[in-house]
Amino acid sequence: MVKVSLGNGQCHRRNKPLQQSRCGAHPLGRWKDFMLVYVLNQHGIPLMPCHPVKARILLKQGKANVVKRTPFTIQLLYGSSGYRQPVTLGLDSGYVNVGLSAVTAKEEVYAADVKLREDTVKLNSERRMYRRSRRNRKTWYRQPRFLNRKKPEGWLAPSIKHKLDSHIKLVDQAKSIMPVSKVIVEVAAFDIQKIKDPDISGTDYQNGDQKGFLNVREYVLYRDGYKCRHCKGKSGDPRLEVHHVKTRQTGGARPGNLATLCKTCHDLATRGEIVLKIRPSKGFKAETFMSTVRWRIVGKLRDLGYNVEHTYGYLTKLGRKDLGLPKSHLNDAFVIANGDMQERSTDVFKMQQVRKCNRKLFKGVRSHIQNTAPREIFGYRRFDKVRLNGVDGFIFGRRSTGYFDIRTLDGTNIHSSAKYSDLVLLERATTLLIDRKMHNCMAIPPQPPYG
Ligand SMILES: [Zn+2]
Repeated sequence: MVKVSLGNGQCHRRNKPLQQSRCGAHPLGRWKDFMLVYVLNQHGIPLMPCHPVKARILLKQGKANVVKRTPFTIQLLYGSSGYRQPVTLGLDSGYVNVGLSAVTAKEEVYAADVKLREDTVKLNSERRMYRRSRRNRKTWYRQPRFLNRKKPEGWLAPSIKHKLDSHIKLVDQAKSIMPVSKVIVEVAAFDIQKIKDPDISGTDYQNGDQKGFLNVREYVLYRDGYKCRHCKGKSGDPRLEVHHVKTRQTGGARPGNLATLCKTCHDLATRGEIVLKIRPSKGFKAETFMSTVRWRIVGKLRDLGYNVEHTYGYLTKLGRKDLGLPKSHLNDAFVIANGDMQERSTDVFKMQQVRKCNRKLFKGVRSHIQNTAPREIFGYRRFDKVRLNGVDGFIFGRRSTGYFDIRTLDGTNIHSSAKYSDLVLLERATTLLIDRKMHNCMAIPPQPPYG
């Protein structure tokens, strides 16, 4: 893992008092021990979430209706003054994994961990293959149509456009149940403008040059692939440092003068015991399309009328280290949303995006999928949320005999052949499967540096 050494007390978070921890691994912060109920007013406009006890009373008195099961949302049937606070939504965007966290001044009111679809490229290639072979097979005359097409301005590949649209959809979804007043999006791991010209902003003197250096440092680590450039990781030392090839006085802290070294090699180089053979650094090519997509998310949200701000990954990492949080999309989203000492939500919405349906029209003798099931079997569809013997899961596979494969979202098998009559239908399938989970800060899987 990459180790960041901080300057002396440059971040405001450092000076805050430590609070009693309810969760062992989490040195800072408090955790809620109840789930929140999201509330809409009688016109469908979101209000602040409430305690489940209050929701239960409202429902019992007939003053509210349940409109959604996950996240549990009720709608008031009477006029309400419309209690609202500023809610900031942090969006940790990513190619596959997306984290969302909504934070008020006092608490975290929403946390979602989303897995986007990864099958678009494969399915599009498959469709292209079938289409091509089908059109070659038929010999009917067709007007040539290959020279009159032009990609419109701002065109994105379908797989990338899908990522962009999904991010917007997730923000819209959060806004439909909470009065989101501001959205903050992490646009890149580092500030590319500031690397090229560190003096681009004259107003950041109060942050000190160490903060600017951390930005360049993150970039250099990323550029060098988080690997020592001298031994290429052979020393096995996981502590990475950024080495000034020439001294800081002569070479400065430009990326061209910096190289990633493991601590072992760095110490040897500093003592003059090894001679570094470091080739000149590469350009900015590594900063790929994902950053342009992230900027587009910002632009599109702004067009949709959101109050949007952006931040950078190195600031997120700094804030996360300061709070002593392990790397996860949820924690990143919390820090992006300016999360600090707020009470954390123990409830996490695990979401997985899936296909709406099998877009397969025929089941022919040459079809590659022979056992295409009809849309409904005994009233059940694929990805319906069901309960089996008190355990909730999703229908992942169905047999026409009425025996289904039930799993949780992370793939854990609940029953590989459950009879349809033993199931209770909880929710109809949508393209976003949602499961409510406890946020276990102990069990956070290792993540790639920027995912
Ligand atoms: Zn090394």
